[in-house]
Amino acid sequence: MTDIFKKDIETLVKLQEAETEIVRLKAVLEKVEKEKIKLSGKLKLFETALNANKEDLASVQKSCRDLETEIAMVDQRIIKSNEHLRMVKTNKEYQVLLREVDDNKKRKDSLETQLLEFFDEKDNAQDLVTQGEKEYALLKDQIESEQEKVEQKCVDDKQDLESYLAQQEDIGKYLKPILMNRFAKISKMNNGNAVVQVIDEVCNGCFMNIPPQLYIEVQKCTSLITCPLCSRIIYHQ
Ligand SMILES: [Zn+2]
Repeated sequence: MTDIFKKDIETLVKLQEAETEIVRLKAVLEKVEKEKIKLSGKLKLFETALNANKEDLASVQKSCRDLETEIAMVDQRIIKSNEHLRMVKTNKEYQVLLREVDDNKKRKDSLETQLLEFFDEKDNAQDLVTQGEKEYALLKDQIESEQEKVEQKCVDDKQDLESYLAQQEDIGKYLKPILMNRFAKISKMNNGNAVVQVIDEVCNGCFMNIPPQLYIEVQKCTSLITCPLCSRIIYHQ
């Protein structure tokens, strides 16, 4: 009976060794994922700002086109009024058309002034977009290469994790399901640390003293004993 139980403890210890590595590797890989997300976020943020600049540029380009269309229309009106001017019979008609031409010329001047301002705005917006696109391309290259590096760094860790998971599955075959479940439950509660040694009456999980009577029981190794303080499975080497 004792020998059988000693075997269980040995299996549990092996299971714990794999579990420790699994927890460590999962934490490493989780950190890597977070790092990659952070890098993508940086690029996304830049992209959003660039898109806003592109929208500004499109809007000012449209304003320029609208103004140019309006100026062309006013021009047409001036040409027509001038044609009429040549054909008028009365002085009154002449004066009305003259005022019309004058008004349209003033309107055209004002539109052209406005257009010049829009041209300046358009140039500035275009510069921002051109510069932004250059910086975006650089940042994209930089971030992709950083992500590649990060990914490369954890290739071994991913393989190791797979191998420890397979190892754990193998070890688990030698353990009764009830013990396996117990191990999984305690591990989950203690961040992957379910089986610990007791050295000189001290539990190596919570570093508290266990009662002397319990220490004797642990040394005998005849049943599964858990630490009364942290509930981890304890054993004596
Ligand atoms: Zn403990």
